[in-house]
Amino acid sequence: MSEKIKFFEQVNRHFDAAAAYTNYPVGLLKQIKICNSVYHMTFPIKRDDGSIETIEAWRAEHSHHTLPVKGGIRYATMVNEDEVMALAALMTYKCAIVDLPFGGAKGGIKIDRRQYSEAELERITRRYTYELIKKNFIGPGIDVPAPDYGTGPREMAWMADTYNSMTEGELDAFACVTGKPIPQGGVHGRVEATGRGVFLGIRECCAVVEDMKRIGLTPGLEGKKVVVQGLGNVGYYAAKLIQEGGGVIIGLAEYEGAIYNPKGLDVEAVVKHRQETQSILNFPGAQNLAKNSDALELECDVLVPAALENQITMENAARIKAKLIAEGANGPVTADAADFLLKAGKMIIPDIYMNAGGVTVSYFEWLKNLSHVRFGRMSKRFEENINKRILQALEEATGKKLPTDLYNQIAYGADELDLVNSGLEETMITAYQHIRETRSKHGDKISLRTAAFINAIDKVAKAYLELGIFP
Ligand code: NAD
Repeated sequence: MSEKIKFFEQVNRHFDAAAAYTNYPVGLLKQIKICNSVYHMTFPIKRDDGSIETIEAWRAEHSHHTLPVKGGIRYATMVNEDEVMALAALMTYKCAIVDLPFGGAKGGIKIDRRQYSEAELERITRRYTYELIKKNFIGPGIDVPAPDYGTGPREMAWMADTYNSMTEGELDAFACVTGKPIPQGGVHGRVEATGRGVFLGIRECCAVVEDMKRIGLTPGLEGKKVVVQGLGNVGYYAAKLIQEGGGVIIGLAEYEGAIYNPKGLDVEAVVKHRQETQSILNFPGAQNLAKNSDALELECDVLVPAALENQITMENAARIKAKLIAEGANGPVTADAADFLLKAGKMIIPDIYMNAGGVTVSYFEWLKNLSHVRFGRMSKRFEENINKRILQALEEATGKKLPTDLYNQIAYGADELDLVNSGLEETMITAYQHIRETRSKHGDKISLRTAAFINAIDKVAKAYLELGIFP
């Protein structure tokens, strides 16, 4: 979209709006806001046809108030310095909101991944990691990347392997990156974590009767008409879980186009159709929309932009009909457009909370890598045995046998996926409650975003004050 929209400036506008409600010294607020370091690199790679291409890439570390810093790596043609700084800043605030001991960071490589073979992508990823190692921009206690737009477990495995092969016997080497495949030290539940967090956050928001009333919706996710933009990692899992949770997905948008069915689209079937035909379009029973951006303007209850930033701007804000906008992507609504939508009586669940599920489960993965033990390994059988003893005592006392299904359900000890999902749910619920508490402290006159930023600023400011740098 418009080149004129400066993403970092947008994030800082949100920051300033929230900072106005705090009493921290100006110097401290400035320190929190600025980006601590940016590494801009170029390196050559050999294409499969033998030609040499120069690749441009970045890593921005926004805040060193606590280490390591954490944030994804993006592969996209629009990657630039302003974007990585903005995304790194969002990571600082996001981690603070969900109480993770990380500063924010973000990286990006300016490529269209579709134009490169797997072997070329591997060369690019390994070289990028090598450059990060050389400049001390990666390491389990320094800076821990993760997947973002255009990257996934495969790229993270290449990064972990490169780091591991270049460090001599570093015990925690695999904690240098998260979002890895399970055999490389990944954690169950990470792939779907961001989408699951989006679903949980929307569910929490929809459960608040007075908020739903204010925007003209009934409480609960059941039957809500939902449109999702982007069927990648975040959008796909968010759409799937929203559907499983009772929402009706009436519109889906992808790179190549958008589809609509007021009766509902089966997310799994759409994904299968896209895999088979290479396009979301012409899905049986659905209507093709003229442009992929038309999906944003559909009549619906909840809109989940889960593709990229600057999707809802002053150009299309007046045509947005959704009453609740859940920012699955980072920065999908510009600051002006957000002001406009709020004035129009809509509600926005802000990115810095909405998509924090990914980094939350990345935190669990990092902890798993540092502890070198799978979650649940020490407790699963112990829990099961205790539960069985209680059930046996109950059966003996009552002289009745419980149905086998119920018995097995209660006797069950939690495995890694159960614990990860439970930790994620706890995180999303608690953070949402804190955001609402802050909003109500201000008489419900501020947006959820401003409340979330106030919480983030408070936590980062306290961390700096504890360091004793600011008297
Ligand atoms: P992804 O690459 O897996 O998926 C993005 C999808 O959006 C792709 O399928 C792409 O084709 C599609 N897309 C691109 N332009 C589009 C357009 N104009 N209309 C419709 N679809 C379009 O990326 P992702 O990891 O799902 O990330 C999406 C957003 O979520 C980004 O803003 C990212 O920063 C944010 N995010 C991702 C994670 C994560 O864990 N992956 C965590 C937090 C935030």
